[in-house]
Amino acid sequence: MKKDVKYAFNIFKIYYLINKLEDKENIPLKILEELNKNYAFFEKNSELDLANPESEKILINWMNNICRYSFLNILLENTIKYLKGKKSLNLKHIKLKDNFLIKNFKPILKMMLNELKLNGSLDYNENINFSPLSNELYNEYIVNLLKRIDPSLKLFNLYEWAKNNNKFISLNEMSEESQKEIIKKYNLSDTKYNRCIYLQDGPIIILSKTNTIKDIPVFMHEFGHFITFYFKKKSLGPTLNEFYSIFYENLALAYLTNKSYSHEEIEYLLNERLLQNKYLLNIYTDFFIYLNYYLDKGKIREEDEVLIRGENFKLLKEKLFRKCDFYISKFFNNPLEFIRVYSYIIGTILSYKAFEMIATDESLLKLFISDSMSSEIINPEDIFNLVGINLNKRKIKRTRLK
Ligand SMILES: [Zn+2]
Repeated sequence: MKKDVKYAFNIFKIYYLINKLEDKENIPLKILEELNKNYAFFEKNSELDLANPESEKILINWMNNICRYSFLNILLENTIKYLKGKKSLNLKHIKLKDNFLIKNFKPILKMMLNELKLNGSLDYNENINFSPLSNELYNEYIVNLLKRIDPSLKLFNLYEWAKNNNKFISLNEMSEESQKEIIKKYNLSDTKYNRCIYLQDGPIIILSKTNTIKDIPVFMHEFGHFITFYFKKKSLGPTLNEFYSIFYENLALAYLTNKSYSHEEIEYLLNERLLQNKYLLNIYTDFFIYLNYYLDKGKIREEDEVLIRGENFKLLKEKLFRKCDFYISKFFNNPLEFIRVYSYIIGTILSYKAFEMIATDESLLKLFISDSMSSEIINPEDIFNLVGINLNKRKIKRTRLK
């Protein structure tokens, strides 16, 4: 489905839902007219009449300012439906079941908020020159790393096989025309093209190399996705989706730490994921707080905000309304973004905790590696136990990557 059609489809699904919820009398006549006009157009043409920007503005404004909480509740309800593996909105084909998250949302939210506090003072250092890395050295590093972490050579063999069978696509080593073809073929829409794509006949990795040491953790991250998908033939679900990939990324960072690169470079690489998480959490924390409240008490009304935010709500009101509106428009464009953010944060925490365990018992490394290569889908609960996180404990500490 084309993106704008999907967007329009969502608007009108929600338009219907709202009409069931809200008293039609309360919708200003001008907006009702606009909605009806657009809906008639949509039914006829299966797309929204966005040729008229004024019309789009009226619709978005209506959604944000008049139906803000109705939309927010629909958004929360549907996020929970995804997680329960139920059909929701137009994403019938997406199965994201994760009962673990729903069951443990409160302690997980606490962990995420703690993560934001821990990373709060980190900031980007813009003035770093990263050491260049030739293709030969890139390959040598990866081969050495894979041999070191997996003496059975299963990972090394997988890497060689994948390389020889064109499973790694490096965009910068292609003509501009072939690049465009790949971007179109795999429907890549954002600007960063480092990712693992799950295809019917197995995974492939698409890379935008920088030809510096930064490429090593990036490759290992994507290779982490590649490994689990290759052996398990399934994605791991929201809680564990990013765990192994961040674990392999962290193995790459630990490997580079022992090479003679500058302190600034290594420090930057060690902090990069945490900084990205800080950025994502700054944007999405309020959404997770709403989700937590919704799971507890159900639908949210504006009056409930004082309970959720405390007396501060009156001061925060404008800021929160802007956030709500932002979540609503985000949801139309990418309904799964919230869940992806959760996967990154939790994957980072789990990986750091795994490294803490390995620091005291090296045999655990073998266990994590062989789990990632087993055909079994791993239960999130087992990983939490394995890395030593007890969700009933009051505070879960995370130390620096070693
Ligand atoms: Zn990833």
